[in-house]
Amino acid sequence: MKQSIRGRLSIIIIFCAVVAVLLSAVIINVTITNTFNKYMEDIQSKRNTRLVEYFEQVYKRDGKWDKTSGEEMMHEAYMNNYCLTLLDENEKIVWGMNHNDIKDKSYTMMHSGTEEGVYTSNTFDINVNGKTVGQILVGQYGPVLLSKEDISFKTEINKGILFSGVLTLAIVAIISLILSKQFSKPIKEVSNTSVNLSRGNYDSRSNIKSNIMEITNLTQSINSLGEKLNSQDLLRKRLISDISHEIRTPLNVLQNNLEAMIDGIIPVTQDKLNNLNDEVIRFGKLLNNLDALKQIESDEIPIDLGLVHIDKLISAVINDFSIEATEKNIKLIINEEENKNFIVLGDYDKLKQVFINLISNGIKFTNDGKVWINLDSDINSVIIQIKDSGIGIKKEDLPFIFERMYRTDKSRYKVDGTGIGLTLVKRILTLHDATIDVESKENKGTTFTVRIRKNSKII
Ligand code: ADP
Repeated sequence: MKQSIRGRLSIIIIFCAVVAVLLSAVIINVTITNTFNKYMEDIQSKRNTRLVEYFEQVYKRDGKWDKTSGEEMMHEAYMNNYCLTLLDENEKIVWGMNHNDIKDKSYTMMHSGTEEGVYTSNTFDINVNGKTVGQILVGQYGPVLLSKEDISFKTEINKGILFSGVLTLAIVAIISLILSKQFSKPIKEVSNTSVNLSRGNYDSRSNIKSNIMEITNLTQSINSLGEKLNSQDLLRKRLISDISHEIRTPLNVLQNNLEAMIDGIIPVTQDKLNNLNDEVIRFGKLLNNLDALKQIESDEIPIDLGLVHIDKLISAVINDFSIEATEKNIKLIINEEENKNFIVLGDYDKLKQVFINLISNGIKFTNDGKVWINLDSDINSVIIQIKDSGIGIKKEDLPFIFERMYRTDKSRYKVDGTGIGLTLVKRILTLHDATIDVESKENKGTTFTVRIRKNSKII
């Protein structure tokens, strides 16, 4: 049977309270009974001593036993529910009470149920001048005699225990309902949010405030899960539309041109065929990029470790791009801090790919401007900044540019790209235990900052 947290918690708390109340009731009861019985036994033994002393006095006074010796004790015995029998030195009965007289009016409190109502008697010698002159038999129903007051005292205590037990249970039940609500409400709320998320409602969030650490963590993580699912969903939709767009464009060009050629509208020339072949090559490139994407996703990047001089690596990359930059009228400027060490542990080719992608983006997204490469280092890391005066990136696009296939609004510019370059950059840098940050202002430019640790813990 399924139970709610609230129900389960309340049952547990109430069950614990019932056990605690019962246990304390039993312990209190047993303790009181024992102490009380001990006290009563003590009184009884004092009574017996007093009785023996009394009869000794009687014998001393009279020098013999007769039917009236100490008979005044009979009244006290009757009132207090015990029986007396006086024997002489030959163990012959001088006088005795009938124990049936006290049977009905006996209030007995037993040590154990089996002894209940059993008549027992004890014999005590009466000694005068070192000689046993007789015996007195003291008999009673049960080992301990309790008066009506004693019994009602005990009943009152038990009633008190019962009352406090019921009161405690009522209070505990109310508290447990309030307490369990504190737990159940936020958990219910979070669980509703997760159900909504699982149904594809990625905007669902949980707003519950709780001062219980685990619940706060749970709320935060379910909300961040919602955000991630939301952005992943957005990316997935973009990815599909991007891929279909990338495929449709060359395909349309090919189809239109081929149809025109078949219909004889355009002549089949060497030039035309070359153009169509370029489209097929573009198609191939797209597939290659998708392959690269698959590789990034499946952790298949092998790392070939060695000492890499970042300054030399950057110079080589800049060299490769000098013609392209000049063609676009872009100045490539390198600033290198002097007397610094730019050596890191890493994979030369992979790191080169990182800077090729970053610098080529800088050139690609800049027209008639500058691209700066600043090189610096501190005790821990080598810091490389690639800054351009290009078109910049919109604020809302910034969090996504490292995601696969992400390309910002294409209507703003007409540049080729697949949205894989930065994903690869991020992946390679992560493998090198390195970081990349980006800052950008629309129509002002973009700055990428790469930090590679000198003593990186490469996995
Ligand atoms: P692409 O192949 O499209 O260049 P990238 O992963 O390299 O793919 O970049 C993703 C997107 O980030 C680009 O489409 C572009 O919109 C934006 N971007 C990257 N670098 C820059 C830059 N230096 N200036 C402006 N936008 C940039």
